[in-house]
Amino acid sequence: MMTFMRFVPTLEQARVERTRLRAPIWWGLGERDLLEEEPTSIERLAVVVVRAVVHSRETWVRESDLPVRFASQPPMSEPPAAKPFRERSHRVFVGIVANERKRCTLCGVRRGLGPCGRCTGTGKVIQTKTDDGVGVAVDCKACADGFVTCTQCEGTGEVVVGRIRYVEDRSTKLRYAYVPTMSATLERAVESMLDESVEPPPSLQIDLAPREVRSAYRGAVAREEPTFHQHRFGDALERARAGVATLPSGASVVHRDVRAFAWPLLLLRFGGIGRPREAVLVVAPRGRLTGYVAPEG
Ligand SMILES: [Zn+2]
Ligand SMILES: [Zn+2]
Repeated sequence: MMTFMRFVPTLEQARVERTRLRAPIWWGLGERDLLEEEPTSIERLAVVVVRAVVHSRETWVRESDLPVRFASQPPMSEPPAAKPFRERSHRVFVGIVANERKRCTLCGVRRGLGPCGRCTGTGKVIQTKTDDGVGVAVDCKACADGFVTCTQCEGTGEVVVGRIRYVEDRSTKLRYAYVPTMSATLERAVESMLDESVEPPPSLQIDLAPREVRSAYRGAVAREEPTFHQHRFGDALERARAGVATLPSGASVVHRDVRAFAWPLLLLRFGGIGRPREAVLVVAPRGRLTGYVAPEG
């Protein structure tokens, strides 16, 4: 038997396995076993499960005031992405814009010195006494009177204008189960059953792109929505495509792994005695045929 078959639910199998598909009886105590009834309709549908990881590198260049030593520094080369890929950011020196030196704007008060980051330039830090809890100000050990060597000019008081390339390596993930529209309780139940931890087997993998079929009529090419062994995706396919479209694309992409899977289910409707009911039969990731019943509609 094909391996995908164990993920295709059937009503017969649910009856054989005595899958729980019960609804409370509205007029009294007890439950109604929906499997003992004939559904008024059976829809073969499928969830679209997307598992995507995209590694991308965004870069942009900005002019910036740099210490004067950069005037004689050769340009740096852009570092390659880490292997295995990690989210990182780099700043790469591209070159200077003009050789002329400018007065550093950060150390206007005392040339070459900027405010200390630890004591925010006050020169004092609060040290809490343990016995009575009263805070006492003591001299900051990281600076002299609140001043440290200016970070922008490295203490020279002068800067040159250079270009810096900002490099951001980012990892974007999309792990979502797009359930075809049905009653909200059923959607949520199926969605949480197929949460991010679920890795669908390769036998359920599908192509998200529409299939092009050559029509017999004058060789016209029509687009046909894919199905998974007669299970339709409904609006789930369009929503999955829209989700994938939000992932980084184009030249910034270093590595792209986008996979989509079908997860078949049966949407059953019951009429007859009592109120109409909607229910779902679906094979859980561990292989157990599972039923969900929506509250009365
Ligand atoms: Zn300080
Ligand atoms: Zn400075």
